[in-house]
Amino acid sequence: MNLGELKNSWIKQFQQPLIIAGPCSAESEQQMLETAKRIKENNTNVPIFRAGIWKPRTKPNGFEGVGVIGLNWLKKVKEEFGFLTATEVANAHHVDAAIKADVDILWIGARSTVNPFTVQEIAEALKGTQKIVLVKNPVNPDLALWIGALERLLGQDIVNLGAIHRGFSTYQKTKYRNNPNWQIALDFKSQFPNIPLIVDPSHICGNRTGLAGITQEAFNMGYQGAMIETHCNPDEAWSDAAQQITPEVLGGMISDLKLRNPDL
Ligand code: PEP
Ligand code: MN
Repeated sequence: MNLGELKNSWIKQFQQPLIIAGPCSAESEQQMLETAKRIKENNTNVPIFRAGIWKPRTKPNGFEGVGVIGLNWLKKVKEEFGFLTATEVANAHHVDAAIKADVDILWIGARSTVNPFTVQEIAEALKGTQKIVLVKNPVNPDLALWIGALERLLGQDIVNLGAIHRGFSTYQKTKYRNNPNWQIALDFKSQFPNIPLIVDPSHICGNRTGLAGITQEAFNMGYQGAMIETHCNPDEAWSDAAQQITPEVLGGMISDLKLRNPDL
């Protein structure tokens, strides 16, 4: 089977566009539960809670994630609030730990998608899984690398695949943290219309003010979902503070967005 033949009907179990929300990083049990509780109170239609447990930071000596202890907090979020849970995996150890802890959805981050050996290692560790696996675009504007990562997963019989568009690094100064280069994602979409495409406005914008506009733009182009970093106290977040929003702001944003694409 090749990517073009995938049906990817997994997205149909969710209201579309699918919203994934939660903090950039898991920081404490209290932060995770408080964020989840307030997302639930404000957005009854958010089915998936995200949190990074292992954080691939650009520079050393920063906060690199709480590690496996955070998996227990994700479990509590699931048990107490009924969310499906999602986290990033960047090597085979992460995969084994996340599967053991019953994380529902795994994603490959932009810094891993660039590395074929890393993607291959993750794919082999996940071989045959029925879990949903989402692949962020690589940090550099390279469509083939993005597609290649998905092909490596499919090569290990992983079929519930989706793509996340989080923008691309650029040395130029732009208003974005990561330039959207919409055309790359649209080329992806036209080659693989059956693979759900989800926008990550948080990492595209790098700030709070542009999130709604980017998300709406993506929905207007037929994206099937958005992953939006949401934190109970964004100003104090241990990573990506400038772009995270409160659950209350998220709730307002969701109700303002014209969520439904007429073609869906
Ligand atoms: C994240 O989702 O917090 C993250 C690290 O994203 P990216 O891989 O897109 O940089
Ligand atoms: Mn982040």
